[in-house]
Amino acid sequence: MHDQTLTQLARALADGEVSSRELTQTLLGRIERLDGRLNSFISITQEQALAAADAADALRAKGQAGPLTGLPLALKDIFCTNGVKTSCGSKMLDNFIAPYDACVVEKLKAAGTVSLGKTNMDEFAMGSSNENSHYGPVKNPWDLDAVPGGSSGGSAAAVAAGLVPAAMGTDTGGSIRQPAAFCGITGLKPTYGRVSRYGIIAYASSLDQAGPMARTAEDCALLLGAIAGHDLRDSTSVARGVPDYRAELGESLSGLKIGLPREYFGDGLAPEVEQAVREAIKVYESLGASIHEVSLPHTHYAIPAYYVIAPAEASSNLSRFDGVRFGHRCDAPSDLIDLYKRSRDEGFGSEVKRRILIGTHTLSEGFFDAYYTQAQKVRRLIRQDFLDAFEEVDVLMGPASPTPAFDLGANKDPVSMYLQDIYTIAVNLAGIPGISVPAGFVGSRPVGLQILGPHFAESQLLNVAHQFQQATDWHQRRPALAEESA
Ligand code: GLN
Repeated sequence: MHDQTLTQLARALADGEVSSRELTQTLLGRIERLDGRLNSFISITQEQALAAADAADALRAKGQAGPLTGLPLALKDIFCTNGVKTSCGSKMLDNFIAPYDACVVEKLKAAGTVSLGKTNMDEFAMGSSNENSHYGPVKNPWDLDAVPGGSSGGSAAAVAAGLVPAAMGTDTGGSIRQPAAFCGITGLKPTYGRVSRYGIIAYASSLDQAGPMARTAEDCALLLGAIAGHDLRDSTSVARGVPDYRAELGESLSGLKIGLPREYFGDGLAPEVEQAVREAIKVYESLGASIHEVSLPHTHYAIPAYYVIAPAEASSNLSRFDGVRFGHRCDAPSDLIDLYKRSRDEGFGSEVKRRILIGTHTLSEGFFDAYYTQAQKVRRLIRQDFLDAFEEVDVLMGPASPTPAFDLGANKDPVSMYLQDIYTIAVNLAGIPGISVPAGFVGSRPVGLQILGPHFAESQLLNVAHQFQQATDWHQRRPALAEESA
């Protein structure tokens, strides 16, 4: 059961081969046996899960089940969940029980899914390795010496290890796609505005977007259909119909124009990763696609622009954690300023503090124009690069990350960590959708192929990914750990 896709499990539930309660119990048992080695969960919500599973089984007995009824999954601990601890990976929110559900959580509950718990993550979603969590690092199920990627590393590791068939992540600069690549699963970052951000703890509001992480593109299609849509509580969510993404997976790729951005195959790309990606592109040629070289000339400026804009927004968003309203409060403050200072000093980890300092500096008088305004202009150019490329080709392809998963502790210098996101970050600055699909290995560590499309081209991206998964079996490989105590 644990190695099946959501789509297969939905069929098993519909055919009465298994109940949602049995499925939930099996997976809770696996989490208990295996997660000690991975640390992919912060909270396990056993009681709520079993109650939701029973409700799903009862609904099915009445003939009222929908396509997702009774399917288990997990939620990154950045999604507010009513009555459940929502820590965002931070000591600051270690005592925070959310009083309401995020829109994504509401929708998943309404669809009848069963959440087994909240997954580990980099503190406030800041990181590319999951080493910044207050709850300790997550390990990569393919190799316990390797990071799972970040910041949605707990979600990626849990899916790869067969603890859950799918999990929700968020992606501000790559945090769905890069951990999906590192853990050999499929992860989709939708177009900015496709999914409501209501109830998702904000990191950088103009870049954050939630999306599904699962074994296959087909499963991502199923989940995206459930979570997408307009929400009046998030004014940046877009009022646009939600297609039946799964129904649109049958299109042939004959005539598809694939662009390979020159800048995504240059210096810094590990040769074995390049080779895996080039092999994947050959598969696309065999499916009838044509390959074109394109250029995204401002790629080089994406990381510097992001590391002005994201920390600026973060410093503003994180000002609400002041020791007064919610979250950590220091003991016996001498006055209000002491309360603010010590609560924040004790509650935030060092990477979060670094970002708050950078953001506060770049937003301050005298520096705003030099940094923030400039970065916004660069952002505009980066977006235009993509729009120009999509005049010539239908989708872009390249590696999700320049290397496979690196060793825990290998990127101690923050700048070398930031450079890991070279292929993912520009996508958030432009607001376009992207997906990473398993496309090979370097030794035991997976490689992800990234596919990018124009704004709101999720149907096309999912189909392009799905056709690859019909022709290859990389997404069916499982780490040895996932086969243990099956
Ligand atoms: N690694 C990037 C950062 O640290 C992106 C993280 C994310 O997408 N949440 O900001």
